[in-house]
Amino acid sequence: MKKMPTKFKPFKFSIFLFFIIQWNYSHSQINLSKMNITVTHIDGPCILLEINGFKIITDPTLDSAGKIYHHGFGSISRKTDNPVLNDSTLKNIDLILLSHHQHKDNFDNKGREFAKTVPLILTTKNGSKKLSNAVGLNNWESFAINTPKLKGLKITAIPAQHHPSWLPAFFSGKVIGFIIEYEGQEHGVIYISGDTVFFDEFYEIAKRYKIDISIFHVGSAQFPYLSGKGRYTMDSNDLIKAVEVLKPNKVIPIHHKGWSHFKEKEDTMKTNLSNNEFTKEKTIFLVSGKPDKL
Ligand SMILES: [Zn+2]
Repeated sequence: MKKMPTKFKPFKFSIFLFFIIQWNYSHSQINLSKMNITVTHIDGPCILLEINGFKIITDPTLDSAGKIYHHGFGSISRKTDNPVLNDSTLKNIDLILLSHHQHKDNFDNKGREFAKTVPLILTTKNGSKKLSNAVGLNNWESFAINTPKLKGLKITAIPAQHHPSWLPAFFSGKVIGFIIEYEGQEHGVIYISGDTVFFDEFYEIAKRYKIDISIFHVGSAQFPYLSGKGRYTMDSNDLIKAVEVLKPNKVIPIHHKGWSHFKEKEDTMKTNLSNNEFTKEKTIFLVSGKPDKL
């Protein structure tokens, strides 16, 4: 009987191949998981988002508590929380994502001063006309950023509706949210809602993106003397609806405290989100000033 040539053993070779593939696979997993994301709440809608060393500040609000502000069309409110910062929080910021410039609870006096020191602001078209270092984006428009820290970084403007449906849009002015994309996002993109109510465009966002980390502006902003119970931002029930539609892996509520026009108490929001089947496992409640690794 003829023997098989001893040099080639299919069984051993396939085991060898199997290990090569496994090694490659686990190696690529390690590389992807090296993508380091940290989020630190500073104030209201203002967070520091660090992705592989690329530093983003959202809606810079850095004024101290105490003053009353006018937000337009007779809407006024008092700031009740101080920003929580240390000396390095605002150092070497690469980018500001500004959902809208026209409201003082999203862009205040010190925030505006700070914004001049940052190389790039992405915001609405209207906002970009008021700020020398800003680029304005229309809904669904993208902007690519070339940085060695984050390959393929791209920011896309996302529609937002910052007023009750029965009020005209000019009442609150144009607002955008943001999608952050870069190479190696194996679980989906990062989404920041900006100030918005729950509205139909959430279904369109869900069609276009698989979302890993979602950051929602909530608080149920209301001005009863102007528009009764009409909401300008989501409450926790709206947020739960948004999570049902968008199906993100992680949910981070922000912009829900620190101002007198927020009408849903933080405790109520936390209880609702902690008891709901869609949000209880995936919600992260940030503590101001404390970096959270995602
Ligand atoms: Zn606003």
